[in-house]
Amino acid sequence: SNDGKVEMFFLPWIVQRGHMIPAIDTARVFAAHGAKVTIITTPGYAQLFQKSIERDQSLGHEISFHTFKLPTAEFGLPEGWENLLAGSLGMMEKLYLAIQKLQQPIEQFIRERRPDCIVSDMFHPWTADVGARLAVPRFLLYVTGLFSLCCEESLRRYAPQDKVNSDAESFALPGLPDDNIVFTKSKIPYWFTKKGTGYGQFADNIIESELKSYGIIINSFYDLEPAYAEYFKNEMGRKLWLVGPVCLFNNAAEEKAERGEKNSIDEGTILKWLDSKQPKSVIYVSFGSQSSMVPEQFLELAHALEASGCPFIWVARDMSEYGQDEKEKKEGSENRGKKLPEGFEERVTKSGQGLILKKWAPQLLILEHANTGGFLTHSGWNSVIEGIGAGVPMITWPFIADQFFNESLVVDVLKIGIRVGNEKWSSYIWEPKVNVTREKVEAAVKWLMGGGGDEVKEMRRRVKELREKAKKAANPGGSSNADIIALINDLKSRRTICANNF
Ligand code: UDP
Repeated sequence: SNDGKVEMFFLPWIVQRGHMIPAIDTARVFAAHGAKVTIITTPGYAQLFQKSIERDQSLGHEISFHTFKLPTAEFGLPEGWENLLAGSLGMMEKLYLAIQKLQQPIEQFIRERRPDCIVSDMFHPWTADVGARLAVPRFLLYVTGLFSLCCEESLRRYAPQDKVNSDAESFALPGLPDDNIVFTKSKIPYWFTKKGTGYGQFADNIIESELKSYGIIINSFYDLEPAYAEYFKNEMGRKLWLVGPVCLFNNAAEEKAERGEKNSIDEGTILKWLDSKQPKSVIYVSFGSQSSMVPEQFLELAHALEASGCPFIWVARDMSEYGQDEKEKKEGSENRGKKLPEGFEERVTKSGQGLILKKWAPQLLILEHANTGGFLTHSGWNSVIEGIGAGVPMITWPFIADQFFNESLVVDVLKIGIRVGNEKWSSYIWEPKVNVTREKVEAAVKWLMGGGGDEVKEMRRRVKELREKAKKAANPGGSSNADIIALINDLKSRRTICANNF
């Protein structure tokens, strides 16, 4: 019916930048490689990435949005609410319900248009059934790496967590390619220890949908975690396409600066500040798009950064930007407002030691600057792979979700970073207190940014090497590039087979 292009529907998760950004980048990568791509989403989401898509269109790539309005009013959510950086628990629950209402119209749209495949975020497990019903292959788009998925498989298969007596007792994860992977109950997702609670049921749905999917797409590259790619394919029996780091495919500086959000301070000012520092001397401090640090911990961090004497850029986001419903606003429960220490901002700004961004940073531009020498990160998967893509060693400070697994990959497997020393899941909901003392943070920063000597030199060498491998993977002839082309060809050959059957 068309020019023979393979037609791919992308269905990203609507909220949370850690899902939005890699989904958009992945969709764009496939369009750049000759697929016709439709991104199914809400008008609010489309608006965030409109400029990027228009730029792609001007290059002749076939990529566009098809939008469905969220029934926000029905659930007491403000119009365009999904565009906020993150929301309180109460708001998120309502949003999930609103998103469910889109399932039927989206299924209808897929039925009418019959694309060659649906690529949908891990948080849309229902699409596996839609794919099965309509005989349209569904690819599951994970927003984590292979190592964390293999760790979870080990926990499911061998349940080492059931054999220890306390939350702090450590246990090895059996069956994995590396035998030095050690965890405690306090660092693994709570649904592995408290079965059937909270997110647990949903996590089960995701795994079920993984088994029903045609294949899995991951923003990683073979040479980063080769043993885990083999484990995932051979031990776990999954069909896998590794297409990352997707951030390396979009090279325009304006692309790197934007990513769907307005920066707190314009890029020019940030880059000028960075230019004024010594090579590899600045530590970039950021906890992703949903930082769940409590005010007490926030203060500890501020003191530590100042005391380290090290130049820093800190994305110190204020929770008051977060969406809350009326009840939560009244109670003020989740939004206790973060405050910097008295005179802190003025001091570090005046002395030139620190640059504080209150909301959003052009993360890729900062990481890639020659004077950035370290990344204090919450270890969200996108941040980890972006840090690797930029060749910057890390200090890991995980809070929740897959972040402790990512920390273990960075520290134990790749040896390109050190732990700050957070020992347990922590967020507004779990742990309203200081988990990492200022002394620990200060020591880690000082070590990575100078005191660590030859050990740090080795880390820098290793992460630079990974950076080169990442670039190679993304370039023509590289492994990720080959997987992208292989996936498109796979869909093409399915087409021929189907056509021959009629
Ligand atoms: N990000 C950014 N500027 C910010 C905060 C985050 O560009 O100030 C981007 C970051 O580069 C990454 C994504 O937002 O692509 C966050 O994803 P990640 O998996 O690191 O963490 P999450 O926000 O999902 O916890």
